[in-house]
Amino acid sequence: MRDPDCIFCKIVAGELPATIVDEDERTLSFMDIAPATRGHALVVPREHSPDLLSIDADDLAAVGLAAQRLARRAKDRLGADGVNLLNSCGAVAFQTVFHFHVHVIPRYEGDPVRLPWVPAPGDPGEIAFAAQELAAK
Ligand code: 5GP
Ligand code: ZN
Repeated sequence: MRDPDCIFCKIVAGELPATIVDEDERTLSFMDIAPATRGHALVVPREHSPDLLSIDADDLAAVGLAAQRLARRAKDRLGADGVNLLNSCGAVAFQTVFHFHVHVIPRYEGDPVRLPWVPAPGDPGEIAFAAQELAAK
């Protein structure tokens, strides 16, 4: 269950180097080579899945728990003031590596990370209409 062209599959297989910080039966966590902040890590399932829509449910749960472990360590050991978890699903949503991963980004007071949108009140009718489409049927 791997993609021969996937860099994260190669990291999981030990064929490409990575700085590993956590592992379990289902997941591997390693440092991002282009960190947003000090301690930025990635959590991936060992099994290849391209994205959030395709990942196995047990793998997704395991990735979530691994991300929580790293978030706790970021606060306890790196002195982070907060943490962002980020998953990008699809190229339009910034995804560049198509092996599911969660970014664990430690946050520090005054760091340069910013929201990728400008919060502003939405149109109530549009919100309600989108909610109708999204609601479980
Ligand atoms: P995405 O843009 O898909 O959400 O995130 C991909 C992340 O993988 C980026 O933050 C990028 O810096 C990181 N990345 C890309 N190639 C490598 C690599 O070979 N090794 C490691 N450790 N990280 C990588
Ligand atoms: Zn892969």
